[in-house]
Amino acid sequence: MAQKTNPFENMLEQLDAAAEIAGLDKQDYITLRYPERELTVNFPVKMDDGTIRVFTGYRVQHSTIRGPAKGGIRFHPDVDMDETRALAAWMTFKCAVVDIPYGGAKGGVTVDPTGLSQGEIERITRGYTAKIADFIGPEKDIPATDVNTTQQMMGWIMDTYSTLAGVYSPGVVTSKPVEAGGSVGRKEATGLGVFFVTWELAKKLNMDLAKSTVAVQGFGNVGSNAAKFLYEAGAKIVAVSDVSGGLYCEDGLDIPALLEYVDKHPRRIIEGYQQEGVKTTDNHGILTCKCDFLVLAALENQITEEVAKEVQAKVVIEGANGPTTFAGDKVLEERGIIACPDILTNAGGVTCSYFEWVQNLQHHYWDIETVNSNLERIMVKAFNEVYETAEELKIPMRMAAYIVALKRLIAAQKIRGIFL
Ligand code: NAD
Repeated sequence: MAQKTNPFENMLEQLDAAAEIAGLDKQDYITLRYPERELTVNFPVKMDDGTIRVFTGYRVQHSTIRGPAKGGIRFHPDVDMDETRALAAWMTFKCAVVDIPYGGAKGGVTVDPTGLSQGEIERITRGYTAKIADFIGPEKDIPATDVNTTQQMMGWIMDTYSTLAGVYSPGVVTSKPVEAGGSVGRKEATGLGVFFVTWELAKKLNMDLAKSTVAVQGFGNVGSNAAKFLYEAGAKIVAVSDVSGGLYCEDGLDIPALLEYVDKHPRRIIEGYQQEGVKTTDNHGILTCKCDFLVLAALENQITEEVAKEVQAKVVIEGANGPTTFAGDKVLEERGIIACPDILTNAGGVTCSYFEWVQNLQHHYWDIETVNSNLERIMVKAFNEVYETAEELKIPMRMAAYIVALKRLIAAQKIRGIFL
């Protein structure tokens, strides 16, 4: 089969394959093959040198069957409508897998933020928010962070929306700084969720996480936190990469030292990190290195058909969204490599965003123990539902996750019926 790199087509292939396994009638899920609403915006921003640049942004609401639309905002040069559509759809399935009352959405601005000043990033964030302000809202569509967007930027989104609405509206966006209505634990939640799922899966596979080796692609929010929690559980993190390249150390990287190094680096990258026995490698070297668990925490379409043939990990943990292509997935399956799917694995972020939103709507804030124990409960329950479905139907976990989600979505759709 030809390699698919359009992420929305990749999503449709996964969806149709799961529906076929579950024997679902296409009529029952046809609405999920189309996003409900799509918005493209172009907005001017005054740059520091006085010139005006026009930026393009997107917001896609894939589904509101089970609740208001929910999904992050990405700042990246590759952001386009197809990518945003796919990411929005994955949010729908992800929220259904962990059974939180949200639909799915995603947004983004086509921009490379590298080299932009804080002032320019703030004006782009506010310009984009003003243009999508009618589309979003605490009961309609709630954005959050994603690739290259920070908690500070969520604070600006909250401020822009609240100012335009004339109402203090912390519930319009999640992943805000704690001082601006954010939840404790949100920053680490996706990585912690990745850890809970990896821990549970290791138990099922009779693998001792404390004696396992791990490679992590991407050392941003998700990758660095996943690495930290896995390291703290005793796993040996043998490789890490980010946009600047990769590091490999057979004896294991000193993750606390690497985290401190990245924290102090002006570009927050791993480049230049020194430790005895550390060798530099490239992105391909990370994806294909010898390890037990390969955690993907960068971007989509990383494990292609070709790369999948060379993967040496026993288990692929999808912290990123859509990191494995449909064809790549088939090769992993043929080779007996287990893929723990994105719509389950990285759902800790949106789950904690849900906690944040609940706290915002109630103006009542939780402590870290309440946040993390609820996160663990929801992630472990979702993991077990997916794992048991996979075992029962003798299918890969990805298909099982889609089936768990599809059943919930179809049930809600049937009860609501079709308007008109
Ligand atoms: P981030 O911007 O904090 O980090 C992304 C990391 O990937 C950075 O370290 C970057 O250098 C690295 N990277 C980019 N291109 C790369 C390449 N070609 N090779 C290797 N590394 C590369 O973003 P994030 O929030 O950590 O998101 C990572 C993934 O996780 C995305 O797919 C995102 O959609 C997904 N995700 C994020 C959250 C969240 O709460 N932040 C929740 C669910 C899913």
